[in-house]
Amino acid sequence: MVAMTKKPNNKASFYKSTLIAHVRHYGAVSRTQLGQSTHIRMPVVTALIRELIENGVLVESGRSVAGRGRKQILLSLNGRHGFVVGIEFDLDHMLAVGVDVCGNVVAKQSMPMPALKTNTAIVKALIALTESMIRESGYERSALKGIGIADPGIVDSKAGVSLMCTLMPEWRNVPLRRLVESHFAVPVLLDENTRTKTLCEHRHGAGQGLQHLLLIDVGSGIGCGIIMDGQLYRGHTNMAGELGHVRVVENGPICNCGSSGCLETVASYPAIIRQVIKALQDGTQSMIAELAGHRLEAISMAHVFEAAGHGDKLALGLLDHAIQYLGYAIANAVNLFNPEAVLINAHQAAAEDLIVAPIQQIIDRHTIRLSGKSPEIRVAKIGEEAGAWGAAMLILDQLFASAAGAVGSAIINRRE
Ligand SMILES: [Zn+2]
Repeated sequence: MVAMTKKPNNKASFYKSTLIAHVRHYGAVSRTQLGQSTHIRMPVVTALIRELIENGVLVESGRSVAGRGRKQILLSLNGRHGFVVGIEFDLDHMLAVGVDVCGNVVAKQSMPMPALKTNTAIVKALIALTESMIRESGYERSALKGIGIADPGIVDSKAGVSLMCTLMPEWRNVPLRRLVESHFAVPVLLDENTRTKTLCEHRHGAGQGLQHLLLIDVGSGIGCGIIMDGQLYRGHTNMAGELGHVRVVENGPICNCGSSGCLETVASYPAIIRQVIKALQDGTQSMIAELAGHRLEAISMAHVFEAAGHGDKLALGLLDHAIQYLGYAIANAVNLFNPEAVLINAHQAAAEDLIVAPIQQIIDRHTIRLSGKSPEIRVAKIGEEAGAWGAAMLILDQLFASAAGAVGSAIINRRE
């Protein structure tokens, strides 16, 4: 990231960055409003806006309707001026979105992860999907401003290195940012996928307008994204939010992280499926076996939720067991962070009815409330593109940082 204290390379460039940042923040605004909010003199505002319109960065987007007096022409970012790519990957698949400079998703593509998950194969596949996204975006390649990557494991986001992933043991110390940057020659940022999902839900989803928010991502692992004072919180060494690795069972199952009894070993989807398989092997009767065609290796969480919806005892019992652990862990996080709301991202539509209400009950019982009610448990609403879209927002935020003279000028001065 470019430090806020960095000196702009020249005054006009700095003013242009500032004007663009204000247009992005406030949406459609008039020249007069820009002059008032930036404290830049009006003749300078007028001249620079003319230049930014000529360069295709800003467009005139209608007239103000409120108030009396002359209607003023409003200015907005020009979505056609450029785009970024956000890409997310996990154990099974990768998904990319093209996002215009206004923040709108303009294209989406996905593909399975390579069968052989060597680091080289994964990086090659990520680059191939990004190339394909660029071709399908409807923009010239020269309009690509940057790439954001959402990683399933623990990352050093400052260095742009994927440190480790409990789901993919070989994925360690991969300098992903450098590898992707050297291929595309545009800025690249890397962060954990739970955080990019949290950023996306905060800007566009169920967490809009909140200053203090937790997002619990339940799936192949369990992560917690944290918004504090309106900003993503990463922690001292980028490890904040590892809720899946809080210890919940004494002498519990061994975890991929090297510890034992972690929340992930009893409440993640692979953990629940392992428990289903063991119960079926021990002779327990359940509709899950039928739904999976009596093939143990075909059992998925969709089967478990469907069976639970029909009142299947095994499915309901195992889900209840997992939700208790999950609920207590979330209650602990609520007591630590005091959020306004907790979003649950459960990746299964059927999960919402079965998870949200019981967790709300646990939170109501086990968190401290001096006044009012406990935080509301909500369902995350963006869906499958949240991680990739949030990664795209990371790179847009960097490109538009108001004082980032050097980076901002890449947007301002590049004529297509
Ligand atoms: Zn663990």
